[in-house]
Amino acid sequence: MTRIALYPGSFDPVTNGHMDILRQSLALADRVVVAIGIHPGKSPLFSFDERVALIHASAEAEFSPEEASRIDVIAFDDLVINTARSQKAGYLVRGLRDGTDLDYEMQMAGMNGTLEPDIRTIFLPASPNVRHITATLVRQIAKMGGEISAFVPEPVAEPLRRRARPDN
Ligand code: ADP
Repeated sequence: MTRIALYPGSFDPVTNGHMDILRQSLALADRVVVAIGIHPGKSPLFSFDERVALIHASAEAEFSPEEASRIDVIAFDDLVINTARSQKAGYLVRGLRDGTDLDYEMQMAGMNGTLEPDIRTIFLPASPNVRHITATLVRQIAKMGGEISAFVPEPVAEPLRRRARPDN
């Protein structure tokens, strides 16, 4: 049986924290579908196509070719659980940074588990060296000209600097 895991998020852009969860997911699942949530009305820093390209480039830079070949990237604007069903995913992967993530994620896992008991949520703990990273703060630091290379994969750093400060 092929184990398929769905890893949903906004990935605007993908950070070292996301890569840590993705690496852990690849050790558990045969395929990992990274699902980028598209919210009409919200204007992201990177377009969907750019986020897809940055995820693939980062996976190729940091994972083995075999691991990178087991990652798919899709967009979704539906309920996460419906997206998991349409992707034939049996698992929903979520990363936990702290107690705030846990409280929120427990609610989501409970609701999703009621909607679809056959799709199981798996919580993966953030590794200590990346647990402080959030894409929101990384975007803010980049917009104010701060150094972001400790927070994002190498292929993301330069595009992020350019996008966050287009006039520099
Ligand atoms: P962010 O919160 O950074 O904007 P997303 O909304 O894209 O990121 O989050 C998608 C998933 O990735 C969530 O499960 C979130 O908990 C997880 N995640 C984000 N950053 C980290 C991190 N530094 N360590 C572990 N998991 C993370």
